[in-house]
Amino acid sequence: MNTPRVLHTAAELKTAIAETLAAAKAPGANAVQSLGLVPTMGALHAGHRSLMDAARAQNDVVVASVFVNPLQFNDPEDLRRYPRDLEADLELLGAAGVDLVFAPAEAEVYPDGEPLVRISSGELGARYEGASRPGHFDGVLTVVAKLLHYCSPAASPVAPNVRFRAYFGQKDAQQLALIRRMVADLNFDAEIIGVPVVRAADGLAESSRNVFLDPAQRRAATVLSRALFSLQERVSAGRSADLAAAVALAAAEPLVELDYFDIVDPKTLQPLADGNGSLEKPALALLAARVGPVRLIDNLPLQPGTETG
Ligand code: AMP
Repeated sequence: MNTPRVLHTAAELKTAIAETLAAAKAPGANAVQSLGLVPTMGALHAGHRSLMDAARAQNDVVVASVFVNPLQFNDPEDLRRYPRDLEADLELLGAAGVDLVFAPAEAEVYPDGEPLVRISSGELGARYEGASRPGHFDGVLTVVAKLLHYCSPAASPVAPNVRFRAYFGQKDAQQLALIRRMVADLNFDAEIIGVPVVRAADGLAESSRNVFLDPAQRRAATVLSRALFSLQERVSAGRSADLAAAVALAAAEPLVELDYFDIVDPKTLQPLADGNGSLEKPALALLAARVGPVRLIDNLPLQPGTETG
């Protein structure tokens, strides 16, 4: 297992990226190189690992960042108790073959405190997660913009000819849609790669906050993925989506308090008019629920299939 180098400042990171790219290059070769960035908030699990694996498979050099971004928390208690364990994270990152880990202090990312100027997530950031967490997506986009800048090889005088990719989980579908829009709308020089949701054996989507569920809450929470899979199965078999039945299944679990459960366009996250009817095109079933002390989100793609009778 390699031990990744840990960098705490943006300046150190830039130098380390340039050095690692130079070392990864075969002597005399002038082929295009590639750099993969995987932003995280640490407390890493199998979901994060699949992002690292995708980045490792596709790039010469892989950078992971571990930074709990205060700008995206609107609940100070949620920020305070967010799990942090850099030692364990470094073990997972080493096992995944990550080359460099950027683990900055808050003062490195926000030297003047809260930034005056930040990225606005617009109306796409105001729906669903944005509705219950005002300012959350502006905070996410602002830190992702900064991380893309820190790592962008385009800015490096020694490595301008490098393909730059950044990896995000489909688990946070609204976040992924917004990052794709930011990169397109503001001409970032990065290719955004979405990675499918990783689930535990009981179907629950892996999340750093799952550790706060007690056994009864954990069992109850599995109804969320069951409801999503029942929708997906119906739609794949060419039947009507029957969102109402899936909502009823989840709502029948007393420890689960549904926030939203909708069928939406995967790019715009606009709710589709007829969630109970036949879907004409690929869609996304999207939900959030509170289970005990935790807010959980999950989603599954819906791919309309042909009628099986
Ligand atoms: P976080 O540390 O929660 O900010 O997550 C960092 C990245 O990992 C984000 O792009 C998430 O979407 C992704 N991620 C988190 N959980 C999962 C999961 N269960 N499956 C796939 N990706 C995930």
